[in-house]
Amino acid sequence: MKNNIYLIIAGVFGFVILNIILFYAYPGKFSTMAYIIFLIVPLITALVIVFARFSFLFTSRISEQEDEKELLRERQEEIIENMVEGLVVHNVSGKIFSVNSTAERFLNISADKLLYRTYIQIQNKNLLLKALFEDKDLTNKTEREISFKDKYGKEYVFKIISVELNKKRGEILKIIRDISREKYLSKMKSEYITVMSHKFLTPLNGIKWTAPSLLQDNIEKSDKTRFINNIIKSADKLIELTTLLLRITEMEEGNFGYKFENTDLLEIVKRSIKDRKDDIKKKNIILSFESRESVLEITADKDRTKVVVDNFIDNAIKYTKEGGKIDVLLKRDGDNIKFSVKDNGIGISKESQQNIFTKFVRDDRAISMHTEGSGLGLFIAKNIIEEHGGKIGFTSSENNGSTFFFILPKDRKKKSS
Ligand code: ADP
Repeated sequence: MKNNIYLIIAGVFGFVILNIILFYAYPGKFSTMAYIIFLIVPLITALVIVFARFSFLFTSRISEQEDEKELLRERQEEIIENMVEGLVVHNVSGKIFSVNSTAERFLNISADKLLYRTYIQIQNKNLLLKALFEDKDLTNKTEREISFKDKYGKEYVFKIISVELNKKRGEILKIIRDISREKYLSKMKSEYITVMSHKFLTPLNGIKWTAPSLLQDNIEKSDKTRFINNIIKSADKLIELTTLLLRITEMEEGNFGYKFENTDLLEIVKRSIKDRKDDIKKKNIILSFESRESVLEITADKDRTKVVVDNFIDNAIKYTKEGGKIDVLLKRDGDNIKFSVKDNGIGISKESQQNIFTKFVRDDRAISMHTEGSGLGLFIAKNIIEEHGGKIGFTSSENNGSTFFFILPKDRKKKSS
């Protein structure tokens, strides 16, 4: 644009100079009128063009600025709407002027039932809404936490930050942050040491108290065998726990090396059931295994897949009472293979179901039935199946049993992130 204007000015000046040269070369040949027309008119024309150009430039700048302002406003609205934090703006008398969609979701009340109403006018106030308006101290940026449980017993923790938005208008911004997961993880972390110490202490104490008995003179052979077996059992438990912890550390550090090869799942399942024959017999459990195929090959890591199959079958045996029933099923499902283990055992409470694949999560009834469980098996299983590009899941009903399943693609796809 600027260059165009310089070109026009240069053109006009060129024309004027040409005319001056002509007047000089042919003196007296031009009338006064010609002087005016040839010299003044181009100058005036140039001025008009430059002026018109600048006015056009100026007006288009203004409309560009307005467009930018509009875009900025839209962008700010989009940012506010897509924020992970809930935002509520209200005045000192509790009248609400703005609510973003996250706040609607947290409060479980739609914006039309909140906007331009005072706190008193809002029907069916829940705990979070009450907590929002309890804060009377507006002079400082204040923070408070509120926690409550839903009907399934799941705990929610929210942080409410109060900021004075505009002193003159008396408007306050409330920022609501869902910190449930943060709280849960930090609780888990602090429980981690306690849980692991207890898990290691039981077999270590077993060894400590059994070993000296072996030093006694005249010890009966049967007692000796029993003591040695106890020590071996405790050592096995320690090895199992350490292996689980190592697996988790490797997984979290991304060093859980996978070896994908042609794997016959049918053989893995058969072997897993065979290895548990004694446990099944001891509990008088009726285990049925059904598969229509003679070979079920997929691209998978043999050892890791066996870890998952073992975990499902172990859990079904552990959490099913004596004389219970377990149905193991392996079948082709289009391009996938589905494996499931159904039991009629203790089932999982609604509350624990929500986090059952999380590290260390164990249902209370499972803990009282099997105190030494680690709560790590399903967490590892989920990671393994997802690394294979598969899906893991379950259905369960308290006291009626559970069905755990995984679906693996015959040909491994990359894990969806
Ligand atoms: P662990 O069995 O050592 O506790 P897992 O991670 O394998 O660890 O299982 C976690 C929890 O899931 C168990 O403690 C139990 O509460 C629940 N669970 C898993 N499988 C079953 C099942 N088949 N029946 C009932 N509860 C189960």
